[in-house]
Amino acid sequence: MKNTRRDFLKTFAATSLTVPMLSSLQTNAAFAPEKKLGIALVGLGYYATYQLAPALEKTANCHLVGIVTGTPSKAETWKKKYNLPDKNIYNYQNFDQIADNPDIDVVYVVLPNSMHHEFTIRAAKAGKHVICEKPMAVSVKEAEEMIAACKAANVQLAIGYRLHYEPFTNEVMRLAKDKDFGKVTFVEASFGFPLRDLKAWRLNPKLSGGGPMMDVGIYALNAARYATGEEPISVTAQTVKTRPDIYLPGIEETLFWQMKFPSGAVSNHTTTYNSGLQRLYVGYENGNLEMSPAYDYGPLKGKTSKGEMKLPIVYHQVLELDGICDCIINNKPNITPGEEGLKDMKLIEAIFKAAKTGKEVKVS
Ligand code: NAD
Repeated sequence: MKNTRRDFLKTFAATSLTVPMLSSLQTNAAFAPEKKLGIALVGLGYYATYQLAPALEKTANCHLVGIVTGTPSKAETWKKKYNLPDKNIYNYQNFDQIADNPDIDVVYVVLPNSMHHEFTIRAAKAGKHVICEKPMAVSVKEAEEMIAACKAANVQLAIGYRLHYEPFTNEVMRLAKDKDFGKVTFVEASFGFPLRDLKAWRLNPKLSGGGPMMDVGIYALNAARYATGEEPISVTAQTVKTRPDIYLPGIEETLFWQMKFPSGAVSNHTTTYNSGLQRLYVGYENGNLEMSPAYDYGPLKGKTSKGEMKLPIVYHQVLELDGICDCIINNKPNITPGEEGLKDMKLIEAIFKAAKTGKEVKVS
């Protein structure tokens, strides 16, 4: 039986349904604006189908009004399921005509990584706000061009860092800021899963831009930044490849990396397509925090030196979508802007360079 990331994530998603959730955090109905923003999803794969579209049935600030797909049969299915008018259905070729469609306020790019750049820029040029999945691009240059295009078009660019909108992650961020346990001294953050779908675009370097780092390792990288509240100053990295027939040049199989922070804190990380692991450990001067699972759709689970983290279990994508759309509606800067994605991209490039050269790479 194939054991893919989908199965892995679906298990967590299914488990979360059995946990009582706080209804006020499932839908933000109390805060519903007069007009919900219209969202068009670009790329109707796993994440759009099983996470974002269902979330958009629960959001208060936005709803699904359009789709962009290269597969006519998917267009038919989605049209019926979500009651979408023909005029709001696009393909990758006629996508730019979205500029003339007043129903669509926001384009959500959920394509393979190397297509994020093109579709973010085309959406911005069409005058639409953009939400783009992580990793925001496959290079720093692309990420900078995406930010510039959205600025030039005067539209918001948000990256789909859903964890920034959920309570466990917010508590990790708060502890870095309020220092309940003193300063952070050490972080261990790792995320991997056994990739068995050998035809996946994730194994094509032209589409993915890298291996597990571009897929789930980015969560562990981002976690070290929010757990410390600091930006790393240098990185070292090592890769291990046991199956070069599967993991082509440009696709790492297992990557270990380490980072140093200005305060003296250090971090250690693993990302891999070889094993399921999902952990965040934060060591403070006077205590610690441990979460596992730390990055999935939930329920997330963790404890600190003071005991179990008793926090609401939420639908990440609902809070993410409503959070981002609230900022668009009220013209406020969003909390996961392109600049947040760019910071991760700069570190990923430095980590890949460190792995290639075997040398410590300084990050400015
Ligand atoms: P997927 O393979 O399930 O879907 C990709 C979609 O892109 C498909 O609909 C496919 O038809 C379309 N596509 C268009 N051109 C393609 C091409 N040349 N090759 C392959 N597919 C093409 O992938 P996914 O798991 O939905 O991931 C999509 C994006 O979402 C990725 O950037 C991924 O990192 C991100 N993602 C984010 C989360 C999260 O929790 N935030 C979870 C999963 C995926």
